[in-house]
Amino acid sequence: MNYWFPYKDVRKYQEQMMDLIQKSLVEKKHCLIRAPTGLGKTVSVLSSTLKFAKENNLKVIYLTNKTTGQTQPLKEFQEIQKKFSKDNKLFGGRIISKKDLCLLKEVKDLESETFYTICERNKDKICKFYKNYKKHVLKNNEILKKIIGSDVSKFMDIFALRDDIEKHCPYYSIKKYLQVYADFILLDYNYMLSPFIRKGFFDAIDLSKCIVIFDECHSLPNKCQELSSIKVSTNIFLACIDEMNDYRKKYIEEKVSERNEKDIEQEIDETIGLVASFDKIICDIIANRRKNEISFDLKKITELSKKEDYMIDKSEIKNSIEVLSYFSSLILEDKKKSRCFSLVNFLKLLLDVQEDEKFIQFIEIKKINEKRYSYLNIHCLDPSYLFKDVLENSYNVIGFSGTLFLEEFKKLMNFPEDTMSADIESPFTKDQRKVLIFPKDYANFTLKTRNENVDLKSNQMIKMINSMKGNVLVVFPSTDVFNIYVPKLKDKLNKVIYLRPFSDDYLDSDDYRIQRDDILNSFKKEDNAVLFSIAFGSYNEGVDFIGCLQNVIVVGFPYPGITYKRKCLEDFFAKKFNDKDYAKFLTSMLPGLEKSIQSAGRPIRSFEDKAVVVFYGKQFGPGIWKYHKFINLFPIDLKEHCIITTEFSDLIKEIESFKY
Ligand code: SF4
Repeated sequence: MNYWFPYKDVRKYQEQMMDLIQKSLVEKKHCLIRAPTGLGKTVSVLSSTLKFAKENNLKVIYLTNKTTGQTQPLKEFQEIQKKFSKDNKLFGGRIISKKDLCLLKEVKDLESETFYTICERNKDKICKFYKNYKKHVLKNNEILKKIIGSDVSKFMDIFALRDDIEKHCPYYSIKKYLQVYADFILLDYNYMLSPFIRKGFFDAIDLSKCIVIFDECHSLPNKCQELSSIKVSTNIFLACIDEMNDYRKKYIEEKVSERNEKDIEQEIDETIGLVASFDKIICDIIANRRKNEISFDLKKITELSKKEDYMIDKSEIKNSIEVLSYFSSLILEDKKKSRCFSLVNFLKLLLDVQEDEKFIQFIEIKKINEKRYSYLNIHCLDPSYLFKDVLENSYNVIGFSGTLFLEEFKKLMNFPEDTMSADIESPFTKDQRKVLIFPKDYANFTLKTRNENVDLKSNQMIKMINSMKGNVLVVFPSTDVFNIYVPKLKDKLNKVIYLRPFSDDYLDSDDYRIQRDDILNSFKKEDNAVLFSIAFGSYNEGVDFIGCLQNVIVVGFPYPGITYKRKCLEDFFAKKFNDKDYAKFLTSMLPGLEKSIQSAGRPIRSFEDKAVVVFYGKQFGPGIWKYHKFINLFPIDLKEHCIITTEFSDLIKEIESFKY
């Protein structure tokens, strides 16, 4: 047998997946698989890769987008280890972020970026845990075998393991253990995609001897773009000037042995002048703006600076970076964060990306709770930029997801032509999920049409929700549509109503997450409730509705908002692929399709689940423009099982006849 499959019965679709992976490993080719949730993807991938890795002296690097998704792969590895490791001595484990594992309180509490830099630069001097690690663990790996052994369950509660490691830096100790012993290493995406973090972790691992697996790989393009971009508040300039003034005396004291005081004073004043001038230029651009997103680049800044007392150009910025860096190191000796440090990173990237068409620079203005905030962005348009190294240098890359548009994904991430791929059918039976499409012209919620036929559309939504048994998730395409329709529905439903947390501006904040989880936890306890959410909100992906969701209604097609960033992305892809329509599809349709399919996948996670999914929107039916035939782009399991209804009464009959 070519696999180490730990369970009694292998399902047909699992075998299909394992065969393809096996072939890709033997032929040393990359492999992409779209397979629906519930198929047992994780165990299939591990069963085929681990055996091959062990026999060929390779390591399996399994990457998840979030650490919350690591329990399953760890459990499956444990099953494989139990069954096949007696003679093979299979080792494995995981590591979480260095900051979370850090034991040095005064460094651990620093802002992320600062934390990594301080730990990297100063660990030898300031950290007793690192010194212990160097003295004991680094010299004698056997210590790790005593603490961890081959018991992978120790990694389930990694904080307990951290405590076991006690006096030695847990991050460096676990890293060493994984580098020396592990056949299987479970990490989050950042370890592979962020060049800085990868260098730190893979310093002793040869990437060409690694099978690199990306779980839920549909999120790779966004992640790669995010990791090569930078965003800072425009308040940064004034905050930096304050910091420099506060630490001016200390700066002079430290430098005075090298140069005379007057020169040092001048150096500081010149840097403050540059930062103040930068601030003034940005404020003027914002004051004279007509839009909430305004592009800028260094050329524009240099031209505008000519009118100021201070000339901002490449060489002046380089000089200031040196001074700001020194200030930031002084500040970080006393404080958790330094704005000078953030400005240095911003200015370095600004210098690096001039003349690089992969990058755009723009100012973004947002209104949050009636207050205006503005940010400077340097954004990477090319998702394949950071990925290139991994693709070219690893043994092979295996990516899989339930929401993957194989051809598009291959192109976006620059996978070579010979990459192997498969679209695997759903293991679930037809009577588990009924997928209904209602593509009437009026079921349209675009900017132009969202306010048309509001009463008709509201009444139809009320009828659909009231005819559904159990809990319902309703996914609106945008906050605006949510705000138009939810008030019309609220009082006419025979279900308990839950609304998503309000402002989208806080999607990444802790407040938002707490609010979201509270709502979700209450909703899960219901058996006849409706949760109103939006497609680009947080109930659509990575949220578990196991056993508590029987219906989903996707209201209208969720086009992403029209932003400067999206427009630039469209132009970039049009040039890259030499096809304007395709670029429009990639930037406007594909994200909406992914969100719609993710919504449809929410309720069915196991063979016990049953659900009705309704796509209520004109765009879900066959259309005139080639890329509007969204139904053709649905994965096989949705496309082949869906029922298109054009009479509303038929749609209701289909819902009512479903056996939940
Ligand atoms: S070496 Fe380890 S314990 Fe010390 S600062 Fe770095 S992460 Fe923290």
